[in-house]
Amino acid sequence: MLRGTRILLLLLLLTTTATAQPYTLLIRNGYCIDPASNRRDTFDVAIVDNRIVRIAKRIDPHQAKKQLDARGMIVCPGLIDIHTHVFFAADSATANNTADSDLEYAGGSEALHPDSFSFRSGVTTIVDAGSSGWRNFPTFKARVIDRSKTRVLAFLDIVGAGMRGNPYEQDTLDMNGALTATVARRYPKDIVGIKVAHYLGTSWHPVDAAVSAGTIAHIPVMVDFGEHLPPMPIRQLFEQHLRLHDIFTHCFAQLEDREPIVDPTAGHLKPFVKIEQLKGIVFDVGYGEISFAFSQAIPAIKAGFLPNSISTDLHKGATHDMLDILSQFLAMGVDLPTVITMASWNPAREIGRPRLGSLREGHIADIAILQLEKGDFEATDHLGQTMTSGQKLICIWTIKDGRLVYSHNRPGL
Ligand SMILES: [Zn+2]
Repeated sequence: MLRGTRILLLLLLLTTTATAQPYTLLIRNGYCIDPASNRRDTFDVAIVDNRIVRIAKRIDPHQAKKQLDARGMIVCPGLIDIHTHVFFAADSATANNTADSDLEYAGGSEALHPDSFSFRSGVTTIVDAGSSGWRNFPTFKARVIDRSKTRVLAFLDIVGAGMRGNPYEQDTLDMNGALTATVARRYPKDIVGIKVAHYLGTSWHPVDAAVSAGTIAHIPVMVDFGEHLPPMPIRQLFEQHLRLHDIFTHCFAQLEDREPIVDPTAGHLKPFVKIEQLKGIVFDVGYGEISFAFSQAIPAIKAGFLPNSISTDLHKGATHDMLDILSQFLAMGVDLPTVITMASWNPAREIGRPRLGSLREGHIADIAILQLEKGDFEATDHLGQTMTSGQKLICIWTIKDGRLVYSHNRPGL
């Protein structure tokens, strides 16, 4: 190489280095809450493409192509909602069909589009809770998982046909642990667990088949333990049927067809519940339409019991988003870092995805930037009990895979 050319190349390299902007996005001045690293202070967060690469007290803004000023805001991991129903209908004709052919949660009218509800409430990962089974999972994947901006993962229902209503969800012959496990193992990037729900009978077969599938595929089981009349015993479920790390959803439900964790008459938490949680059973909120009662949650929290994770049970009848529910837990006296933990780092570990749900360097840049809005707020549960609060969490910006995907009353980038 000629001497002159070499000097020119060296000069070019020096110039490029001096003006380089290595970070694709910089979030400045936000109050970071990261449960995984126990970080709670004001930090700048630098991102390159889809990864968090640096967290420091001050990062030179000139080194970033784009930046967001999060002064006065909360910067936390993108929220993870592990109980949703997003296997939406392929067309409006199916969605509006109320005849027997309606597919309900399994591609029918009960399910919603994930992107319409996720980013506006700081959610970057949604887990569908059993809407599809081994027979229709490929349809769910092609229609929803592969086409959504939201990261969509799935619990596979133990019923081969998924949650398509009755009589399908009562067909114990279609609850095949081996076939369910086969499909779960074929799609390890998408399927994070097995689901049991809506079984009316008194047999333990649905739970046991789901646990056998979970054991073969090395993934947890999520149990929606209804709808049995009289209710089946939850202590027996925890002690004799579930494994450690299996998930009991709708944990604050108070309905006649399921045994509650708080005795509704005495108003106290059943002592074995805390013991089972300490042993490793996971308790998830699954708020939904009728699956949460303050008369369960308030005494449980007063007794020192907190759910491991908060989730919405998003579907057509469920009207509360993640931030509504997080705000209700704040109103019940749970502190903000704990509430954030129950909506990010805890669910990430419950579904075996520890690269999500944290703000650590090297991890995926899924980030929610929230604000505590002051005002008079109230929430009423399906039993008519109301909770009031002077603050509510709102989402200002949502970043998924390092890209801004939602902006509330703020300019974008
Ligand atoms: Zn559900």
